[in-house]
Amino acid sequence: MNIKRPSILSQDRKAAIKANRAMAILELKLHRERHKALMSRREINLSEPAWVRVNPGPSSSRARSSYRLCIGFQNIGCKYRERDAEGLGCLMCGYYARTAFKDVDRKVIVEQFKAGLIAGYGEGTRFDSIEFLNDGSFLNTDEFDKETQADLLATVSRMRYIERVLIESRPEHVNGSALRFVLDQLRGDQLLEVGIGLETADDFIRDVCINKGFALEEFEDAVSEIACVAQEYPNRISTVAYLLVKPPFLTQREGVEDALSTLEYLHALGARRHVHIVAKLEPAAIADGTILSLLYQNAELRPHYEPLSYWAVLEILARAVGKKGGDAIEVRIGAREDMDDVLMAPAIYNADGETFHPLDFVVYESLQKFNQHQDILRVLAVVSRVYHRFYGGPFDGRDSSLMQWLVQNAIEGSAIVEFARQNSEAIKQEAETEDAKYDIELMSMIYAVLDIMEGYSKDARDLKQSIEDALMSGDKKSLGLRIDDCFKGVAPGAILQSTVIDTKRGRDSQYGEVFFDVKDLLGDEKVSVWSRFALGRRV
Ligand code: SF4
Repeated sequence: MNIKRPSILSQDRKAAIKANRAMAILELKLHRERHKALMSRREINLSEPAWVRVNPGPSSSRARSSYRLCIGFQNIGCKYRERDAEGLGCLMCGYYARTAFKDVDRKVIVEQFKAGLIAGYGEGTRFDSIEFLNDGSFLNTDEFDKETQADLLATVSRMRYIERVLIESRPEHVNGSALRFVLDQLRGDQLLEVGIGLETADDFIRDVCINKGFALEEFEDAVSEIACVAQEYPNRISTVAYLLVKPPFLTQREGVEDALSTLEYLHALGARRHVHIVAKLEPAAIADGTILSLLYQNAELRPHYEPLSYWAVLEILARAVGKKGGDAIEVRIGAREDMDDVLMAPAIYNADGETFHPLDFVVYESLQKFNQHQDILRVLAVVSRVYHRFYGGPFDGRDSSLMQWLVQNAIEGSAIVEFARQNSEAIKQEAETEDAKYDIELMSMIYAVLDIMEGYSKDARDLKQSIEDALMSGDKKSLGLRIDDCFKGVAPGAILQSTVIDTKRGRDSQYGEVFFDVKDLLGDEKVSVWSRFALGRRV
């Protein structure tokens, strides 16, 4: 059956996108080859996974503040790229960058998993779920053969605290026997989530803008397979549908409309098929070697790709929750480091388009915490209180970053603004709850530290200088110590541990990036902080 849904784009917009795409594809092949050659020549240590992170996840029976271990393997990579007539696969996907570029033995993958577990436990944050976020499909036996699947899952089944396991797959590999095999390897009390990158319910956007290579009916068939198996294995399996927020060729406004239309579709599909579908918003990161980096870097190609703002993600959430009320579909939000070789992260940028706005971290982290509590009142309570503490006005006031973003993108009738105004009393009450107060205090501390690092605090010029010196010399240890000094200055009583994960210097060394974790040892909470700031800036 051919499922027809109206597109959010007019015929004129589609024609313009098709013309732009034709030009961009030719360039993309060269762009991709260059980047692939670079990445395949890197020193590849197959005893380690491609990446490991512990991030906020959905609440579990053990904890409200749950965390998920996310792991990606250095494996052969997604086979869809080989099948795709263009040889490119999904145009925005940069996961290939950390693959092994060759077949990898089962034992080596299992070694990578063990190394990933050790690294994950080493972060010191308890996690109760595991997400296999590899390049490609866990259920494709050409990528993960049955023995490899069995070995990995047997280890997971022995992990007493793991309640939820997520695997990812293209829909063509999702069938009853593949799902039963996975479920049978896990413990009877472990939930299996099958993540499928639908990206959008809009056929034109999925096909032309993304090059996804499957139709809506294939996605629905996969959901039906999962629903069928769910009857044999009650409460053991469910679907997670990934949505790409701001696909290539779309404006921020179109990206918001597309995500909302897809959320509505998923909500209706879940009701129609009587299945539980979780929607996961994946804010597009500009990874090197992709159509996004090509359109971002190459001024001659149209349309220029501008990094996604986290205001767009909050706007989508406010509209989705506002519309459906208590009946809302469960929405999760991906972490922004969930992509390889990111050139520009989705973030709230300053007017220069290069540095992160001081509020970026607060909005981003509040949205990550939404994964745990699913409460938009708490998100708005934290954002508005931290904003008020540092700026002294409402976060949606006249010259605020939110208002500037709305005006720049011609978004009228913002759901964030409307929701915040209609629910101002409830937001105030929420801000007085113990959970929200905790978040507000922790975020305010980090905000004050970022003020020093980013050069907004005139009282800490020496610290700012020493942070820059450590960043320029690439000395992570010394950088970590300087960040600790900042925390000691702004929150002398707090028992916190900060760990620098990564650093980067931007074009012409004008910008610095620092990515670090902050662990509150007393509250057993972890926050990931990403800052991009101008080097040499002094107030
Ligand atoms: S998004 Fe998924 S299906 Fe598409 S190329 Fe990347 S790994 Fe493959």
